[in-house]
Amino acid sequence: MPDNQSQSALIQLAGLGRAFDTDAGRVHALKDVSLSISAGEFVCITGASGSGKSTLLNIIGCLDRSTEGSYRFAGRDVEGLGDSGLARLRRLAFGFVFQDYGLLDAMTAVRNVELPAEYAGVSAENRNRQAKELLRSFGLEDRQLHLPAELSGGEQQRVSIARALMNGRRIILADEPTGALDSDQSAQILSLFKDLASQGNTVVMVSHDATVAATADRQIQLLDGAIAHESGANLRSPETVRSSPVMPKTKRTAWAAIVQAMRAGLESLRAARLRTALLIGGPVLGVASVVALLGMANGTYHASLKVVGSMGADKVSIGQLPQPGISSVDIDDARSIASIENVREVVLSQYDQKLVRYGDKVVRDVEVSGTQELPSFMKTLWPLAAGRYVTRQDGENMSQVVVIDDKLRDRIFAVGEEPLGEWIDVEGVAFEIIGVLAPHPIMQGEPYTSRPPFPPMVWVPFATGREMLFGDDVSMGVGAYVQDIARVEETASDIRDLLIRHLGHENFNITTDRQIFGAYRDSIRTRINLLVGIAVPALLLGAAVTMTLMLGAVRQRAREIAIRIAVGARRDDILRQFVFETAAITLAGVVFGLPLGWVAGHAVNLVLEAPSAYEPWFVWTAAGSALAAGLLSGILPARRAASLDPVAALATE
Ligand code: ADP
Ligand code: MG
Repeated sequence: MPDNQSQSALIQLAGLGRAFDTDAGRVHALKDVSLSISAGEFVCITGASGSGKSTLLNIIGCLDRSTEGSYRFAGRDVEGLGDSGLARLRRLAFGFVFQDYGLLDAMTAVRNVELPAEYAGVSAENRNRQAKELLRSFGLEDRQLHLPAELSGGEQQRVSIARALMNGRRIILADEPTGALDSDQSAQILSLFKDLASQGNTVVMVSHDATVAATADRQIQLLDGAIAHESGANLRSPETVRSSPVMPKTKRTAWAAIVQAMRAGLESLRAARLRTALLIGGPVLGVASVVALLGMANGTYHASLKVVGSMGADKVSIGQLPQPGISSVDIDDARSIASIENVREVVLSQYDQKLVRYGDKVVRDVEVSGTQELPSFMKTLWPLAAGRYVTRQDGENMSQVVVIDDKLRDRIFAVGEEPLGEWIDVEGVAFEIIGVLAPHPIMQGEPYTSRPPFPPMVWVPFATGREMLFGDDVSMGVGAYVQDIARVEETASDIRDLLIRHLGHENFNITTDRQIFGAYRDSIRTRINLLVGIAVPALLLGAAVTMTLMLGAVRQRAREIAIRIAVGARRDDILRQFVFETAAITLAGVVFGLPLGWVAGHAVNLVLEAPSAYEPWFVWTAAGSALAAGLLSGILPARRAASLDPVAALATE
């Protein structure tokens, strides 16, 4: 007979023990518990507070593990099951009912009831139908869409019992289910258990209350973790007992698992709006700073380019000393150079020392330059005192016009005499004075240099000078101005390659103003390093804020996590949910942070009078690094949530 009985036992414990290691030493919550419960029994575990009732129920329900002895469920060894095997039993065999109902506050009654089916991978339609049927059978059809807070204690407990029966489960494990109810509602719940048991379900209830315990068919009394007294099994006739629990072989798809994690995550984020808003603050901060700082760095870059451009760093100079028998750079070469990518403009020049006459005044060794146009940096450095500069148009018209410097003016004109409109003779050719330069701001300091004083200088249109003064004998200077100063060296080498191809030799010079460019590069590097030095910590700070808040949230949400685990969530489900929550938070941070950073960066650039230069790659950089940082910062909280001990989180005094 005992053999026969043990074979039909649903739950069979032998020599079961559970010890906890605490600061005060090892606590034996359960000692040598041997017990067997058959399908269809209505059992109550009784005993004083601290006698081990909850511990025993949690081990039976696979929410906790024993430290000694054996546990066989439906003939199978439970000790050997891994975490996911235990989760499977919770999903498909055991339904927990708690003293505080254990409902998720943010979910409606029907959603609470659906939850175990959601973790089992049951389709939305099926689980909704199942949940509604269960709620109707407990008289709660008009409470389906209410939140737990809108229900009475008895109603909440009935929702909890409905949830315990989802997925076709037939074993209810109820820990002090009437502890928080008044006597009317208590009686209702107890008679419900009686009905369920008489319909063939198995009910294992825990209560310290003798009158509650008396409603069960069988009482097991614990004392200090050991069975002190047992009323003996009160088996039903086999025909009333429903077949052993349905354990459908549910196979959830990976996609269903992801959808479930997303749904759970979104529900939790929506349930705690303030916390969610705070959490989003972290990535908003990080993304906004990165975008703002990248915009500022780029603004600085473009501002610097303008400055160094005006200083002449955008010029590649090509020069050649005339040598007999060697081809020299000519106007066709200059045209080819002008078509090189990144070359904005090519300016030709020739210069030579010439003799200048005005009336009876004769000045030798005047440096005469033929130029298409004065480079802009020269114009800024060496302003006009009167008149205008030589232009390209002057050359196209073959105008005989000249701009003279202050030295020549002082040599040939008396004080108060007006040079503009006067004609001077340059090596026998007449030129009209159209402009007079102011004293050169740098070359004024001659006494401090050991070099011979600079000669007087004049400028004539390039074409006029070449035709009437220089011809082909005087070597031609070519100045190529680049678009993108950052690539000036690269362009210089393109020009070199082109000239080697055209001329067949390398007897020419190509120079760039490396000093100006180097200074520019150093200054811009310093500024960009500074900005990046702020952006990276800002992003990390944002991630750290999210992680800290998220870790805090895990602690606050221990109950929610424990309930999810109790209804059958796998550790991976919890992990995925939290990772998804961090991802969603980070994504929201990106969405809000991008425009915020854009506005902030523009505002700062406006104040600094720097150009606002925003480029699409900023978005990808900021969003990408924020998502990476966000996901990294989410791993620790997610792992902590997934490894939470549900028993400790659910323990109520
Ligand atoms: P009951 O439900 O009968 O009141 P419990 O099963 O909750 O009793 O606890 C039994 C004993 O085990 C108590 O002495 C309790 O302090 C101890 N205990 C329960 N859980 C833990 C735990 N996580 N860590 C340490 N001791 C625990
Ligand atoms: Mg207890």
